[in-house]
Amino acid sequence: MKIGKIVLVTILLGIVCMPVLAVSEKSDLDRPVEEMWKEKCEHGILQFSCDECRFELGTVKLLPDLIAGKGKPGLVATGKAGSRKVSESRAFTGEVKLSEGRTVHVAAPLPGLVRKVFVDIGSTVAEGAPLFELDCQDVAESKGDYLKKTAARDLAKASAEREATLFEKKISARVEVQEAQARLAAAEIEAANARGRLLRLGIPRAEIESLDPKIPDTMSGFLTVRAPQGGVVLERQISVGRRVEPGKDLILLSDLSEVWVWADLRENDLPSIFGRVNGGGGYTAEVRSPAGGKPYRGTLDVLSGTMNEQTRTVKARIVVPNPEGHLRPGMFVNVRVFLPGGGSAVAVPKAAVLADEGRTFVFVHKEGDYWVRRPVTLGRRLGDMVEVRSGLKPGQTIITDGSFLLKSDVLRRKMGAGCAD
Ligand SMILES: [Zn+2]
Repeated sequence: MKIGKIVLVTILLGIVCMPVLAVSEKSDLDRPVEEMWKEKCEHGILQFSCDECRFELGTVKLLPDLIAGKGKPGLVATGKAGSRKVSESRAFTGEVKLSEGRTVHVAAPLPGLVRKVFVDIGSTVAEGAPLFELDCQDVAESKGDYLKKTAARDLAKASAEREATLFEKKISARVEVQEAQARLAAAEIEAANARGRLLRLGIPRAEIESLDPKIPDTMSGFLTVRAPQGGVVLERQISVGRRVEPGKDLILLSDLSEVWVWADLRENDLPSIFGRVNGGGGYTAEVRSPAGGKPYRGTLDVLSGTMNEQTRTVKARIVVPNPEGHLRPGMFVNVRVFLPGGGSAVAVPKAAVLADEGRTFVFVHKEGDYWVRRPVTLGRRLGDMVEVRSGLKPGQTIITDGSFLLKSDVLRRKMGAGCAD
């Protein structure tokens, strides 16, 4: 069946043999088409139109019946060399980790006894929500200290006012007024410091204003520690009744609406990923769970400075928005990083490209039923397409499929005798 078709092509095409070139002769691939189109053959006609000689110009005559059209089968298909956006990508594996920019370790600000714990592992908390309450000696002392200092300030103020009045009535000397004012200034600084300390301990302003030695509750050492940001409680190492000291992490809180994926980049992929990392804007990346589901878009923005000597890989960070929280720290994921390919490229289907004696070429439409093979330089593979770096312009009509029939060994052999004359 196939051979039958080929014979048919052979007959209809009239010629389809590739040149059997003498060593000294210049290949048709290296000659301008316009020059070849003016050439006359030994039969005294334009060579491209000669059924016996046009093969030497790498030219074929292809009758319209052989070309597939809309809803019409044919032995060859034609199309236009396309200009397409190039997006090259690389695949890696990676692991989901916490976003360190959105993770906090909460410790006790002071030594104390745990009175209450308001959250559990897995709790979602808003910024400012209470996490736990301590009873701290320091807080009680600081409150007392603050009240003492404010009382001293008030006394100094009254004293300064009294001295001022006495001076006006010429009862006391100016120096006594000045001394009273200096004492007031010092007392004001001490009161402000004591208040600042309470604020730093996290005592709200309203609570400070309402401190009253006659109301014992206001003088307690109770200190509520609040969430410095919203997030999910991932670790909780605190229980009621235990003594805690500053410096030990009691609660790990992370906002999982963003996670970091650390991908392992192979050594030989690094050169193509240096350009935009570590401050260069990053690369678009796609993260997928091997279990399936929709991909997550993120940005690869940081490349680690060191290489794992065993695996010969380098860690790269991908920041991934995770609004539904489906990506969980510890998950292994597949990562695809998209590389900018420098805009658009001329691309043709792989099947359009043929090779002969180390040269690659495609059949380009010249005019009417005539098609001429033209050399092309190939670039990247783009799925089923291949980039043509030179030799074709976007929009040129080419044989996209079935072109192998035009150069097949069978045809060459069949036509060989005729062509060799
Ligand atoms: Zn001829």
